[in-house]
Amino acid sequence: MAEDCVFCKIIRGELPSVKVYEDENVVAFLDIYPINPGHTLVVPKRHVERLEQLSDEEAAALIRVVKKLAPRIVEAVGAQGYNVVANNGRAAGQVIFHVHFHIVPRFEGDGCQMDCSRSKPSMEELREIGEKIKRHLEH
Ligand code: ZN
Repeated sequence: MAEDCVFCKIIRGELPSVKVYEDENVVAFLDIYPINPGHTLVVPKRHVERLEQLSDEEAAALIRVVKKLAPRIVEAVGAQGYNVVANNGRAAGQVIFHVHFHIVPRFEGDGCQMDCSRSKPSMEELREIGEKIKRHLEH
């Protein structure tokens, strides 16, 4: 728990929110700056900054709620799809440093795009990066 964390304040009921789900470990509430109607944040009650700081059990509890809520939110707002996004670290666009998943309902032709340009590396370059990642998985 962090004193000044906006999400901890929402969890403690010190800031208003529109909660759509709550259990003993996880809470979900509407984003106050939604990309689309129904944009929901799914948050563990325990304050940790990044995904890797959750226990496996906490991470599983979180993604179970994401999986359960996403199709129901899509239905509720009449969307056709959804994105699940978690920004970890300032470089990735994380603004609130309490780990959270965004569920963003998507509508055909809503014009919302991930604004990163994409590259087209060679298979050799992909293999090099793949090897690096696998070396880091060994410890
Ligand atoms: Zn927090």
